[in-house]
Amino acid sequence: MPNPLTPQVLVDPVALTRALVDIESVSGNEKEIADAVQEVLEACAHLRVERIGHTVIARTELGRPQRVVLAGHLDTVPLADNFPSTVDDKIMWGCGTSDMKSGTAIALHLAVTCPDPRYDVTYFFYECEEVEAARNGLKIVGDQRPELLEADFAVLLEPTYGIVEAGCQGTMRARVRTTGVRAHAARSWLGDNAIHKAGEVLRRLSDYRAREVEIDGCRYREGLNAVAVSGGVAGNVIPDACEIEVNFRFAPDRSEEQAATHLREVFGGYEIEITDSAPGALPGLSAPPAAEFLALTGATPAAKLGWTDVARFAALGIPALNFGPGDPNLAHKRDEHVELDKIEAGADLLRRWLAD
Ligand SMILES: [Zn+2]
Repeated sequence: MPNPLTPQVLVDPVALTRALVDIESVSGNEKEIADAVQEVLEACAHLRVERIGHTVIARTELGRPQRVVLAGHLDTVPLADNFPSTVDDKIMWGCGTSDMKSGTAIALHLAVTCPDPRYDVTYFFYECEEVEAARNGLKIVGDQRPELLEADFAVLLEPTYGIVEAGCQGTMRARVRTTGVRAHAARSWLGDNAIHKAGEVLRRLSDYRAREVEIDGCRYREGLNAVAVSGGVAGNVIPDACEIEVNFRFAPDRSEEQAATHLREVFGGYEIEITDSAPGALPGLSAPPAAEFLALTGATPAAKLGWTDVARFAALGIPALNFGPGDPNLAHKRDEHVELDKIEAGADLLRRWLAD
């Protein structure tokens, strides 16, 4: 089959978005789209191209003093009667239009059409962002070839509706346990009810005052919430165990360790097990390429509330932000779509930043 990413398509970020959307690439099925992307990148004399799994990496090697990253994932969530794309004169609908083939298209468009950028650029077109972390293409690159991630600044073209979202909150899950003594419900005084003791844990949660912090002009709002409760043995048994699962979203001025210590303080006196965690990312927007990028956008950055691959770069000490044409509120939805002029505006801004 001929490559749909023709030269006429590659020079037009809107047409390129549509072409990428129309190659189905639900996570795990990125071979075809990665092949197409790799082929057009390999045709560019100014890029050195490598592939790891279905992640394609293209680098300029111009000896510039600074290197920046532009990254977009190739995969989408499962289709929902929204494939292939449809388009009118303002909007394109379809799976991945917002999250994030419109952003990925901008990166690919620049990779091909910007042979002489003012920074050296590493482009990542990566697999499996929408599924468990172990399969994430950027994680795999970081594990196998960490030097490929090295840069002074990274832009992930995840949907932000054309604003800059910097840093991201960390997330931690934990189980808080109460214990008691099992007994027959008819002789309950012989037992000690672990579910009743959960009341105090829940009270601490409802009394909890979440912190708000401002870092580099971005406002982060933390949250500590119960997300599940389990307990109970049978209808005639005083339960001897109860578990409250909590989720803590923490601002990036706390490390994972500090977040865990905080949870141990909040739930002092109870057994607590941290079951999962991912660090936040400081916005770090004072690095020169970041500052130049922000000056061009002319807007104050907002804090990113969810966890994104920005944190992967931040963990390596590389300031990173999200900037993409899609609307994050439309991601993963049946009526997912993107505004065509947001794609044009995003491509323009990044071109002015890179090509000067
Ligand atoms: Zn995404």
